[in-house]
Parts: sequence; C-alpha cells; structure tokens
Amino acid sequence: MKEVKEFQTESKELLSLMINSIYSNNEIFLRELISNASDAIDKYRYLSLTSNGKYPVREGEIRLSFDKKKRTITISDNGIGMSKDDLVNNLGTIAKSGSKDFVSKLKEAKEKQDLNIIGQFGVGFYSAFMVAESIEVLTKTVDSEAYLFSSNGEESYTIEDASKEEVGTTITIHLKKKTKEVDYDEYLSEYQLRNLVKKYSDYVRYPIKMKVTKTKKEGDKDVEYIDDETLNSMIPLWKKNKKDVTDEELNNFYKNKFYDYEDPLISLFVKVDGNITYDSLLYIPSHAPMNLYSDNFEKGLQLYSKGVFIKDKCPELIPDYLKFVKGLVDSPDFNLNISREILQQSPMMKKISENIEKKIISKLEEVKKNDFEKYKKFWESFGEIIKYGIYSSYGMKKDSLQNLLIFHSLKHDDEYISLETYKSEMKKEQKYIYYVSGENLDSIKLLPQIEKYRKDDTDVLLFDKKIDEFAIMMMREFDKVEFKLISDESASELSKEEQQKIDDLTADNKRLIDNIKEALSDKVSDVVISSKLVDAPLCLSTKDGLSLEMEKTLQEEAVENKEEIKATKVLEINPEHDLFKALCSIQQDDELVKEYASLLYDEAMLLEGRDIENKGEFVKKLNALLLKTIK
Ligand code: ADP
Repeated sequence: MKEVKEFQTESKELLSLMINSIYSNNEIFLRELISNASDAIDKYRYLSLTSNGKYPVREGEIRLSFDKKKRTITISDNGIGMSKDDLVNNLGTIAKSGSKDFVSKLKEAKEKQDLNIIGQFGVGFYSAFMVAESIEVLTKTVDSEAYLFSSNGEESYTIEDASKEEVGTTITIHLKKKTKEVDYDEYLSEYQLRNLVKKYSDYVRYPIKMKVTKTKKEGDKDVEYIDDETLNSMIPLWKKNKKDVTDEELNNFYKNKFYDYEDPLISLFVKVDGNITYDSLLYIPSHAPMNLYSDNFEKGLQLYSKGVFIKDKCPELIPDYLKFVKGLVDSPDFNLNISREILQQSPMMKKISENIEKKIISKLEEVKKNDFEKYKKFWESFGEIIKYGIYSSYGMKKDSLQNLLIFHSLKHDDEYISLETYKSEMKKEQKYIYYVSGENLDSIKLLPQIEKYRKDDTDVLLFDKKIDEFAIMMMREFDKVEFKLISDESASELSKEEQQKIDDLTADNKRLIDNIKEALSDKVSDVVISSKLVDAPLCLSTKDGLSLEMEKTLQEEAVENKEEIKATKVLEINPEHDLFKALCSIQQDDELVKEYASLLYDEAMLLEGRDIENKGEFVKKLNALLLKTIK
C-alpha cells in the first residue's frame, strides 16, 4: 500500500532551498550520505554487541555504485535500517534543532545570494536534493519489513511496502538533468566518486566499496575485469596510538594531505581526553608558503568529527600568529550539521583552540631547548609572525611568547640568543636591555652609536627586521628589565664626572651649538655634545620612542601623510673627533658654521643608514667645499 505524506513545514523550507540551489559545492551530498550510513552501521554494531543474538554480528560495509544509463547513484549500507515510523520521523522531519537554525541562516544567505555557505557544513540527508531530481530509500530493520520511501523533494513523499533481504538501507539518487550551470552527470564516474570518497570520507571506519573496472595483461592483450575496491583508508592516523605512528608516516601524511614537497619541520601529535576531547595532528612546515604574508593567505585547521571530515580550513582553531601551522582536529563533540556561525561561537571551539595554542607554544619551547639548530630554521621562516603576534595583541601575548624570541646580538654576532641569555649575561651595573635597529646586520654593526658598547663590552640586541622594534615597544620589559634603544637620547648611563664634562663642553661651545641648531631647526629638535661616540664624528639619536628605523617603516607604509610621521631627532657631535675641533676653530664665523650644518646633518643621516633628503643641495655644498680645497 502506498501512502502519501506531507513534509513537515521546516523540512519543506530546507528542501526548497536545497532544490533551488545551484551552488558549486554540491558534491558534499556524498559525504553526508556516507556519514549517515556510517552512523547507521555504528548503531547496528552497538546493538549486535549488547543484545544477545538478535542482531547477528557482521562486518559493516558501505557500497557505492552508479548507473550511467539510468543516471543514478546508489549508496547502501548494512546498518540499522529504518522502520516506517523512522522514515516519517527521520526523513519527513527535521529532527535536529541545529537544522532549524540552519534553515533561518540559509534563508538569510539566500537573500544575500550567498549560497556558498551551504558547503561549509553538512545538512544531512536533504543535501542530496541539491543533485537529485528524486530519491528512493529502500530500508529494512531487524524488527520490520522493508519499506520504500520516495520523494522528489517537493511537498510530499510516499512510503510503500517493498522487499529487501538484508537489514540496512539503500539510497538511490536520480540525478537532476544537466543545466547550463551544472553538469550533474560528472558524478557518474568511478574517478569522481573515488575522489570524493578520498577527499571527504577517507577515514570513515567502515570500508566504502565500489565495483571498479580494471585492466590486466593476458598475453599481449589488455583484458578488462571487475574488481571490488575499498576506496577509503579507514583508519585515521591521528586515531592510532602515538607510539604506533612512525615519523615517516607522520611526514608522508603531511605531504599528501597538505600538498607539500618537503617534510614538515616539526610535527605534533596531540590527544586530549578530559573536559574537552579531541585528537589533533599539527605540523609546522619547513618553509613558509609563498603567500604567507599576503592578504589572500587562508589560515586554519581541518575539522573532523569522529573521523568524518567537516571543514577544510577552520580559522577559529588557530590564532593569527600561528597561521603557518597546518593540521587537523578531530573531536567527537562537534556534530556534522553544525553551522558556521554556531561553530564560530562554540565555546568548545574556543577551548580547543586555546589548548592547541598552548601545545604549540610549549612544543616550540621544547624544540628551542633541545634542538636549537631546528629552532633557528623555524625562526628564520616564521619568527617574524611570532613577533607580529606580540605587537598586534598590544603585548597581551607577551608572557606566552617572550620565551620564543631570539635575536642576533653584538657579542653573539653569528648566533641567536634568547632574552633569557641576554639577561643572564648583563653586566652588574647594567640597567637596560639594549637594542638597536637597522636595515641589516652589516649596516647595524656600522652604526656610530654602537662603537661605545663594543668598546665597553656591553651586549646589544641587533634588530634587522622591521617588526622587531614594534614588538619590543609593546613588551616594554623582559623579566623586569626595561628595553632601551641605544640611539635613544636617554640611553647613556653616565657617571657624575662624565656628565660634568659634557656640561662643560656644552657651555664652552654654546655659540657653535646654537648656530648649528638654528640652521637645522626644521630637521632636528636639538644639537648636543655626545657621550655615545668613539670613532664616528656624529650621530642622530631620537627622542620619545620613535626611532629612525620605525620612522622609515611607517613612512613606507603611509604613502599619503608622510610628513606627519617624523621621529624627534637629536644631532649628537663627538667632542673627541677632529671634525669637532675644526668646527670649534671657525666657531666665530656664524655664517660659515650655518652653511656647514646641513652637511653635518646629511652625513649623520648617511651614517645611520638613511638617505640624504635633499641630494641636490648636498652635492652643491660638497662641490663648494671641494673647490675650496682644490684651489
Ligand atoms: P542527521 O544525520 O544529522 O541526523 P539527516 O537528515 O542526515 O540528519 O538524517 C536524519 C536521520 O535519518 C538520521 O539521524 C538517522 O536516524 C536517519 N538516517 C539517515 N540515513 C540513514 C541510514 N542510511 N540508515 C539508517 N538511518 C538513517
């Protein structure tokens, strides 16, 4: 007897959305049906293990087949099956509250023409209507006869008595006709079905089998034969015991899954069982991908639930400063039908991501401690992103990330040292952690201000990356020791006598200094007698925290209001240098001093590794000088 039944209201809405969607990711229907099949086998297995004999023990199996002529795809399982009531309750109704939410989200998305969101998460059985004109479900349970449910996804469905030998469910999809936009027939191929299984359902615990045509040589002829092939690998690597997984397996898995030609630098196998439960495989690549720093780089980990793939790049699982980490998370606490919005707000997601963040940081600390060579390699590829993490969190990540930082330093020239090491090597009277920044290590080592530290044997961190100073500014201090830029005006730690000497020299040469200051009033805020220099005649220091390097970086970034970003510069003159002595000798000639002032400034800029601002003016003045001496 054939009964005609109406779909429940919400189901109707979902169905109509599905039927009318022509969105590109409709392939997920297969994942959804296979996942239902796998659940049904789970349920059967559970009963066969718990109810003595009523459910005979058998191997769970999912079968795929297709018929090109009839244009059908069939997915069958030997799971628990459905009774007539089950069919009405499960397929005629949206059972899950999550699905109800989904319907409203989907309606919203449809209004915005954003149907791509469907692909982000599953919507179970109904998703098959994205590709199906009609669907038949032939099913039988241990307790009941077989029934055939059929529907074209519109108002109603029918249920009629049928015959089926084995307990389980067979779903037949009659594909929609080809349209201008979509060719549904692409699913009618071994190749395509095999790919989809590999992509979405590789780790389903039960074999997904398909009869495939193969060829073999017989004599010198190719003979075709049919083989029963299992399309999925079944055991997720991350579900295995840690000790049973070799490095090679981990590496191969990484290379296949994340399309890398090189082994990962660091792999991390995580199993957490407690308040939250998840398994995770995390990888740090050996090299940064080309587009890591571009806006179109997509971070994220793959998300699985019980071995079933949910989503490819889940950005919520990983903080920005670890965006280079690849991997996956498998947690039984997520359900396949979860919507993206719910996923984002899920407290579970947040907990897992915080947990993963901690695991990665402590793994990195461990590598830093035990395999510094490897750590250096990591740092060279990804150190800047870590530093960016400190900067962009306004220092909030300081405590967790500061122990990962390593820098070159004046005394450890070719090596890297940690802040801890720097601190442990500080001189007794040293108040600050000194740093200096510049274009590259070679040019930094030539900076005039650094001479004194070299002479005094005081170590200075050398910042050759743009982000360094910005990150350090956010940190302010490490383990209660403040950072200090050596080219900052306040960096000198002078004794009383030294200070007195500077004060005296300043007083004695007031006229000279004032004249230079006047001539450079639009360029520097002050001109002073320096205590920082050894061999160099001059240097430029800065005040108020913005260094010359930072000025340069910010000016490069802000194309429009270049003028506004200016470091407060101070011209410092070395009183021991011959140049100073020569200047003293012309001290009475105000005009001449003023004329030379801009040359002094340009020279100081060059020594700082910066460019001369007005090149024409510089050349004119230099030539005037040359002509004087040549004459
Ligand atoms: P979900 O899988 O999220 O529950 P679906 O719409 O995919 O949502 O399926 C609804 C219900 O139909 C399932 O919960 C299950 O009880 C039943 N069902 C679907 N497919 C099968 C199957 N192959 N065998 C047995 N029951 C099934």
